[in-house]
Amino acid sequence: MKKKLNLTKVKVLRQREIAPGVFVLSFMRPWDFVAGQVVGLSGSETEEARLYSIASGELDDEVDILYNINPEGRLTPWMARLNTADSLWVSEPFGTFTSNGEPGWWIASGTGIAPFRSMFRTGLTNGKKLLHGGRDSQSFYFSDSFEEVLGENYVRCCSRQVCPHAFHGRLTQYLEGLEHLPADEKYYLCGSAEMVVDVRDILINKGVPFDNIISEIYF
Ligand SMILES: Cc1cc2nc3c(=O)[nH]c(=O)nc-3n(C[C@H](O)[C@H](O)[C@H](O)COP(=O)(O)OP(=O)(O)OC[C@H]3O[C@@H](n4cnc5c(N)ncnc54)[C@H](O)[C@@H]3O)c2cc1C
Repeated sequence: MKKKLNLTKVKVLRQREIAPGVFVLSFMRPWDFVAGQVVGLSGSETEEARLYSIASGELDDEVDILYNINPEGRLTPWMARLNTADSLWVSEPFGTFTSNGEPGWWIASGTGIAPFRSMFRTGLTNGKKLLHGGRDSQSFYFSDSFEEVLGENYVRCCSRQVCPHAFHGRLTQYLEGLEHLPADEKYYLCGSAEMVVDVRDILINKGVPFDNIISEIYF
């Protein structure tokens, strides 16, 4: 979805390529936000903004944006060329894909891990289980910190390689194989439409009420 948003200029603090074609861009935090919210980003004040989840914590001084290059896209190839002190345009944060401190499930594919990294850094980890689906061993962004804090409650599902410390297969296969899914917990889903729809079907078939499934689709 491309929204017409009010944009202000920020300066890039740093840009890191954390896996091939996958970047974390950081700028100083100009506003408060709630973990799980998104911002619009653009290369100019007039161009339509694309939406990105904030990947840093509510109290972090810097805002992190996790994104991958879409080679045919307009924004991401340009964004990947930005260096420290270059400018980009950003909206205020918005969105309702927010979590709480109750036990629950964070389920992500690819860069859909971004809002959960924000919730994680905000300290909403009590009783949380984090499932992350990726293609290969380089797909598990921020895995060191997730592993350290969440331990066995952090499950990587690696579909195209046998990856260390990971379930071999798609996260849908991992979920299918679970005998019991608590019906009274919330399930937060973030990533591609295909992943969200497939996971939602599995959860409903396993007895999770529709109202306990909260989704954010990246397109
Ligand atoms: C709520 C939400 C949160 C998101 N959060 C993240 C995030 O945290 N990280 C992340 O990496 N992504 C996220 N996304 C996806 C992100 O917003 C962009 O869609 C993505 O980064 C592509 O941007 P782009 O400008 O490079 O590509 P775009 O220019 O948007 O192009 C995308 C595709 O559309 C095609 N296209 C572009 N213009 C046209 C046209 N006029 N006619 C036909 N086809 C066209 C291009 O060929 C390309 O294949 C999120 C999306 C949503 C909705």
